[in-house]
Amino acid sequence: MNKKTIRDVSFQNKTALVRVDYNVPLENGVITSDKRITASLPTIQAILDDGGKVILCSHLGRPKGEADPQFSLKPVADKLSELLKLPVVFADDDRVTGQKADEIVKAFKQSENKVLLLQNTRFRAEETKNAGDFAKELAAYGDVFVNDAFGTAHRAHSSNVGVCAYLEGVLGLLMEKEVTMLSKVFDNPRRPFVAVLGGAKVSDKIGVVKNLIEKVDTILVGGAMAYTFLKAQGYAMGKSLVEEDKVDLARELMEEAKKANVKFLLPLDIKTTTVFEDTKEFALRKVDGLRENEMGMDIGEETIALFAEELKDAKTVVWNGPMGVFEFEHFAEGTFQVASAIAESDAYSVVGGGDSAAAVKKLGFENRISHISTGGGATLEFLEGIELPGIAAMSEK
Ligand code: ADP
Ligand code: MG
Repeated sequence: MNKKTIRDVSFQNKTALVRVDYNVPLENGVITSDKRITASLPTIQAILDDGGKVILCSHLGRPKGEADPQFSLKPVADKLSELLKLPVVFADDDRVTGQKADEIVKAFKQSENKVLLLQNTRFRAEETKNAGDFAKELAAYGDVFVNDAFGTAHRAHSSNVGVCAYLEGVLGLLMEKEVTMLSKVFDNPRRPFVAVLGGAKVSDKIGVVKNLIEKVDTILVGGAMAYTFLKAQGYAMGKSLVEEDKVDLARELMEEAKKANVKFLLPLDIKTTTVFEDTKEFALRKVDGLRENEMGMDIGEETIALFAEELKDAKTVVWNGPMGVFEFEHFAEGTFQVASAIAESDAYSVVGGGDSAAAVKKLGFENRISHISTGGGATLEFLEGIELPGIAAMSEK
């Protein structure tokens, strides 16, 4: 990787402005999972150990560019202090970088305290527009900028990209891991390289399919996404989720795959129901046998065997999107078997996408996957081959 990380700079007697992802789930002001806070600790600790002070910033939820008490980062400051076992100063300023924050930061720098958290960056409308003076005001608090928020890396906001106009930017440890692990997939991948795609909509994944066609040997398509491709091949999909306006595009993508000599495999059989519910009263149909009142819910046994066979000898695997409505017990089998085939192969495997990652974790295969990416949109854009602005803005080595 050609970007600088926190290991490439000295923090001795410096203050690092660190963009973290503290977009934690909250219920009535109580944090229901502190995973994202825990995940930020190694980077914070490394900077402290190197003799630096840390000023953290993050967004939380979707306040509308103005202060909104339900999205205050105060509970996060308390939780962070508990986990770090250190006092954490909270700069409680509704303008984030206002006069009040300036004074708190000034006093913090002169004190023995080592860690400070600013208020929610989205209390300022300039944050998501990456405009105005907000980035400059944030940057004024630090000597170096550290970006450790992968989940927003596909966005050019004031607090992750704007600040780099004023400060040298380096990657934090979480970002470094994401970039390194995801890059491995496209950087001289071992072959066969197999991509598994699923999920609800083709339209979410067009860019991913296009980019993968140029890189992989085989693409396996399941989930509701497959029905638009099957429709393009002339099959009647009944009441299944089909994106009618994407049928032509699906046909073009399959032609592109053929030209590129990429094996493009669709389901051979499908589990169907007549109502969208978790029921054991489902039918198993060949792709040419769906009834008019039926909808696809999961891939069938033949398809599972076909996909498992391809995955068995794979040396690199990228997986995004479940094979069926895995939230329903009776339609989780396809997703389960694909996850299990990936876990059992000795491939370098990367899973991206919120639902796919949740499925892997639910099934207990976490430790047998090389990397489970934490980004939603950021991971998808990476797989589309787009350079993420939050990474591009960092200094080169
Ligand atoms: P990810 O978050 O991993 O990127 P997506 O958000 O694209 O995945 O898709 C996940 C959703 O797709 C799940 O909620 C799942 O229920 C749905 N899905 C998968 N197969 C089907 C299907 N056959 N019919 C309806 N929904 C489906
Ligand atoms: Mg999803």
